[in-house]
Amino acid sequence: MFALDPFTVLFTTTLTCAVLAAAMVSVHLSFRREVAGVGHWACGLAAMVGAGVLFLLRGKLPDALALPVANVCLTWGIGLSMIGTRRFFGEPGGWAIFHAAWTLELAAILYWLLVEPNFPHRAAAFSFIVSVFYLDQLRLVWRHRVAHFTSWFFGALLALQCLNTVSRGVAALFMEPDAANLLRSSALANVYLAIANFMALLITVAFLMLATRKLQQILEQRSTHDPLTGVLNRRGFLQFFGRVRARQQRSDSPLSLMAIDLDHFKAINDQYGHAQGDKVLMQVAAVIMRSARQCDVVARFGGEEFVVLMPDTTLAHAQQLAQRIQALLRDSLQAGTPSCTVSIGIAGQHLVSESLDSLLARADHALYRAKANGRNRTEIAGPAPLAA
Ligand code: GH3
Ligand code: MG
Ligand code: MG
Repeated sequence: MFALDPFTVLFTTTLTCAVLAAAMVSVHLSFRREVAGVGHWACGLAAMVGAGVLFLLRGKLPDALALPVANVCLTWGIGLSMIGTRRFFGEPGGWAIFHAAWTLELAAILYWLLVEPNFPHRAAAFSFIVSVFYLDQLRLVWRHRVAHFTSWFFGALLALQCLNTVSRGVAALFMEPDAANLLRSSALANVYLAIANFMALLITVAFLMLATRKLQQILEQRSTHDPLTGVLNRRGFLQFFGRVRARQQRSDSPLSLMAIDLDHFKAINDQYGHAQGDKVLMQVAAVIMRSARQCDVVARFGGEEFVVLMPDTTLAHAQQLAQRIQALLRDSLQAGTPSCTVSIGIAGQHLVSESLDSLLARADHALYRAKANGRNRTEIAGPAPLAA
C-alpha cells in the first residue's frame, strides 16, 4: 500500500494551482473578449494558492490567524471559479451568494475555533458552504449543456466534487470526528484530501477544455463567415459545397446556383458614403437569408456579390427564389436607406461531374447578361458544355 502524505499532497496541489493560475492569466490576457470568466478563474486559483501556502505553514503561524484566513481564501477561490463559470455561460451576478458564503464561513470558523472549539462543526460548515458553489456551476452546465465531451466531463467532475464535499461534511458531523481532520493522518482524511485536491485540479483543467473548445468554435466561425453580413465567406462556402455535393451525388438530385450582384453600388457609396453602403450590404444579405430555405447556402463572394447554393432545386424553383429576393428587396426599403436593386444569374447543374468553377462561371456569365440587359433582372445560364 502506498501512503498518502497530506503535506506532500497539499504541497503538490498548491504548486499545480499556481501553474494553472498562470495558464489562466495567459488565456485571459489573449482572449478576454472571446471567452469570459477565465480572469475570475485565474483569481480564484490565486486565492487557492494563498490558502494552500497558509495551510502548509500551519504550526509556524498562530492558528487563530492562519486558519480563518486560509479558509476564507479557499472559499474565495472556489467562489470566484463559480463567478467565472457564470460569466463563461453569459450569466451575470453570483456576488450575493459569494459574499454570503465567505462571511458565513468566516463567522463559522471564528466561532468554532475561538469561542467553542469544535473541529467537526468547522469542517462540516466549510464543506456545506462550498458545495453550494459546485451545485450552482452544475446547474449552469446542465442549463447550457451541449452534446460534447467537454460539457459532460466538466459536469461529471462538478457532481463528483459536490458529492465528495457533502460526504466530508456528513462524515465530520456523524462519523468519527477525527476522520475529517485533514492534517491528522487518519486514512479517511487522507483519501478525502487526495480526492478533493485532485478533483479541484481536474475541474480546472475541464474548465480550460471548455474554454478552449469555445475559442475553437469562435475562430472557426470567424474563418468561415463574413464579419459584416454574417453570411458565409468563400472559404465557408467551399466547405459547405463539398458536403452538399457529396449528398447530391448519392441522391442524383438537381442543384442550382445563384450569383447576385448589387446594381450601381459604387454610386450608392459615392452618394451616401461607405457606412451607408455597408448598411445596404447588410440589408441585402438579410433579405437573401430571409428568402432562402434552411437548406440553402448563402455566401458573400467579394465586395458586393453574393452566391446562393440551392440543393434539390430545379431552375424553375431557383427562378422563383430570385423573384422573391427582388420583390422583398423592393418592399423592404426603409425610409432613409438608399434604394438598391440586384441583378441575378442562375445556373443549374445538369452534370454531376461539373466542377464548382464551371458552375460559378456559368452563373456569372448569366449575371453579366442580366447587367447588360438593363439590371434589376434575372437571367438563366445555358447548359454546361459537355466537356465539363
Ligand atoms: P454594377 O451595377 O455594374 O455591378 O456596378 P457597381 O457599381 O455595383 O459595381 P462596381 O464593381 O463598379 O463597384 C463595386 C463597388 O462596391 C466598389 C466598392 O467600393 C464597393 N464595395 C466593395 N466592398 C464593399 C464593402 O464592403 N462596403 C462598401 N460600402 N462598399 C464596398
Ligand atoms: Mg455591382
Ligand atoms: Mg460586382
